[in-house]
Amino acid sequence: MMEGFPDRLARVREMLSLAAESAGRPVSDISIIGVTKTRSLQEILVAASIGGLTLFGENRIQEALPKISSWPEDLPVEWHLIGHLQKNKARKALLNFTMIQSLDSIELADILERISLEIGRQGVPVLLEVNTSGESSKYGVKPEDASYIASYICENCRNLSLQGLMTVGPLTEDEKQIRSAFGLLRGLLVSIGKDLNKTLPVLSMGMSYDFHWAVEEGSTMVRIGSALFGTREYN
Ligand SMILES: *Cc1c(COP(=O)(O)O)cnc(C)c1O
Repeated sequence: MMEGFPDRLARVREMLSLAAESAGRPVSDISIIGVTKTRSLQEILVAASIGGLTLFGENRIQEALPKISSWPEDLPVEWHLIGHLQKNKARKALLNFTMIQSLDSIELADILERISLEIGRQGVPVLLEVNTSGESSKYGVKPEDASYIASYICENCRNLSLQGLMTVGPLTEDEKQIRSAFGLLRGLLVSIGKDLNKTLPVLSMGMSYDFHWAVEEGSTMVRIGSALFGTREYN
């Protein structure tokens, strides 16, 4: 028999509890984002109505907009942008997403600031994406630039509300390498919080195959696609 969404969700929750327990953390400190790229509206509706998920992550504006615009109002959820944002799509992102997790340059921060002023949206929650693996295929600012860019955002982009950091772990199965990337992000969150004298509550890290390590390294938000919805056909 084919495994359905409720079984997959139960298994993810179980793994999350175990990881939190082994880290001595309350599992309630960690939220699950259902990553819904390539998934149909119908699948996402099931995840929200039956699974009770309330946070969803999409990578591309173009793909996300039809889903977001047909979403039923009586089923309130948050949409988070987790993929690279092209500058010419910043307005659409601000009009449709609750949080932008993939802020990855000062230029983009300036554009988001300007447009959020124009459309009258204040306190836009953002995460600074950091490339913790050094892989050239990955987006995100360099770890050594993160502190400067974070302080730039806080000082110059008054309409944006920096909530923390986001990263995509390295493309490897090596536990040590994966943990070290996540540990790097956590260290940055702590040091940037001190520099800015500001509480940064969100550490968005961990995906289907590495979220248990991310939780042990301090993640507060795991972004899970295939472990919840099954293997993707593409991307
Ligand atoms: C696709 C994607 C995920 C989820 O990946 P899975 O391996 O399917 O869990 C998480 N974060 C980002 C940024 C993604 O692009």
